[in-house]
Amino acid sequence: MTTYFGAIADDFTGATDLAGLLARSGVEVSLRIGVPDSPPTGTARVEIIALKCRTSPVDEAIKDTQTALDWLRKAGAKRFFWKYCSTFDSTPRGNIGPVAEALMQALGADQTIYCPAFPENGRSIFMGNLFVGEQPLAESPMKDHPLTPMRDSNLLRLLEPQVTLPVGLANRHTVAKGPKALRERLASLKAEGVAHVVVDAVANDDLFIIADACQNLPLLTGGSAVAMPLPKIWLRQGLVNGRDVKREHRFEDGPAIVLSGSCSAMTNRQVAAFLGQAGRPSLKLDPLELAESGVGSALDWLSHQDLSKTPILYATAAPDAVREAQARLGTDRAGALVEAALASCAVVARDLGIRRFVVAGGETSGAVTKSLGVSRLDIGSEIAPGVPWCFARSEQHDIAITLKSGNFGSEDFFAKSLEVLDA
Ligand code: ADP
Repeated sequence: MTTYFGAIADDFTGATDLAGLLARSGVEVSLRIGVPDSPPTGTARVEIIALKCRTSPVDEAIKDTQTALDWLRKAGAKRFFWKYCSTFDSTPRGNIGPVAEALMQALGADQTIYCPAFPENGRSIFMGNLFVGEQPLAESPMKDHPLTPMRDSNLLRLLEPQVTLPVGLANRHTVAKGPKALRERLASLKAEGVAHVVVDAVANDDLFIIADACQNLPLLTGGSAVAMPLPKIWLRQGLVNGRDVKREHRFEDGPAIVLSGSCSAMTNRQVAAFLGQAGRPSLKLDPLELAESGVGSALDWLSHQDLSKTPILYATAAPDAVREAQARLGTDRAGALVEAALASCAVVARDLGIRRFVVAGGETSGAVTKSLGVSRLDIGSEIAPGVPWCFARSEQHDIAITLKSGNFGSEDFFAKSLEVLDA
């Protein structure tokens, strides 16, 4: 099928978040992990390419996104989206602005919008200032981010040093008046030579107005939420057809496994809730033990379990235990040991006949999909906001896999994910 909408995301879990929101409408959405090596075939109407370029050097980010753009254009895409984090994670050098400007140039676009708002998740923009819950961005925990500390809350000021062309604002009062008023504001800014327009949004309704007003811009940029209303517009206009991806995948009827490498507060609660269910085979992976004796015993344990009972392997631990492992092994080594162990467990599980994988942790998800050789995910039903079931091929096997980043999902996420697939 010819692709209509092509999106490029600057990180992996951001791409799954976008994919989940777009697939809510029932349109066919496919996610590629990195730019595919081969030319587009069997493409979906909506294609998303997940890159890892949020904090890479600007030149590299531009090169990677251009390669992704070329692939999406070859797939037939007519509209494009540059997805970044809803907290506008970037530095004065980039990469949000320089990538947007390079994409605009390649597409011959003279204007684009910037809307990282995600009101459902507490990210709102008013008078160009981004809020995280009730806090201005620069007063939120993002001010201390190790790679992209956000020390200003004003998106215009954050964007200006990142781009060469003028930056302007379409504020909430304009957005609230509706799509026509917003289109007129964009046109008047364009007449003044403003190429980069920050658009306010404080509520979901604003996102619908923005999507409606901007649907014909060749390039939109933002968080995942501003793209969410687009499929409804395309369905109404007959540009895409709805499709129940889940019905087309019957192969997920095999046994399931939970692999958890996230140590977030929510994942700790999710693991505890799952372990609380009677008869659940479980094994805790300890980075110190992995460093000493390797992953062999875990793989051996797995091969002796009753797979129909959905075993769980987890390294998820409380902050004290994580700090201790990190102090003794080094943060990178502790993380790498756990990621490699869970990645090996995934491969062995698949070879033992597991066909449903519930994976917790952003980095962990990257390691597991890589080891399973998954390069394409077809997006299915949403388990929690931003966390869909995905369908993929792994070594000639059809599998269902869900990739949950840190704090996503409710306490019963693991059990619920399996119910969603069975529904
Ligand atoms: P999240 O989405 O919650 O950030 P990630 O998988 O991205 O989860 O990151 C968690 C990191 O912590 C991974 O690199 C993982 O290997 C590492 N990790 C998991 N368990 C432990 C542990 N017990 N001690 C130290 N590091 C751990």
